Amino acid sequence: MDVEKTLSIIKPDAVKNGYIGEILSRFEKNNLNIVAIKMISLTAQQAQNFYSVHKNQPFFVDLVTFMCSGPVVVQVLEGIDAVAVNRKLMGATDPKKADSGTIRGDFAESIDANAVHGSDSLENASEEISFFFADSEISILS
Ligand code: ATP
Ligand code: MG
Repeated sequence: MDVEKTLSIIKPDAVKNGYIGEILSRFEKNNLNIVAIKMISLTAQQAQNFYSVHKNQPFFVDLVTFMCSGPVVVQVLEGIDAVAVNRKLMGATDPKKADSGTIRGDFAESIDANAVHGSDSLENASEEISFFFADSEISILS
């Protein structure tokens, strides 16, 4: 049980639908501390680079278009087993398959507009955090 950092993004659908506060509250209630946060609008280039692992997938263009369709809120979460805890809180990628009580189960609209992104491994978390935040922008809480 290590203290980890992970990257989370509240996607354009959840921002538009007014769920920023409720989603951040779930992180805090589950011992994931917010140690960096900002609201930004992704450029197409940023979205393509961020999701480059999916560049050969049929849904890639729709994914990039969606991620640029409105502002997003990007945060670094810190806590014990943060990567796995966040993925559990998020629920399945397809909200139809996500359990009720998970963020996607409760707030997501579709597999495209699925409310949140979360890093899927500690290695990816480190890369994704650096993608959005300089070390100097990440707080040390303890
Ligand atoms: P994310 O990376 O956004 O946290 P995830 O890790 O649960 O989501 P990935 O497989 O990494 O899922 O897919 C990235 C995103 O691409 C998903 O969040 C979803 O919006 C979109 N996506 C994934 N699979 C499909 C699909 N079969 N059809 C349409 N969109 C998809
Ligand atoms: Mg993913």
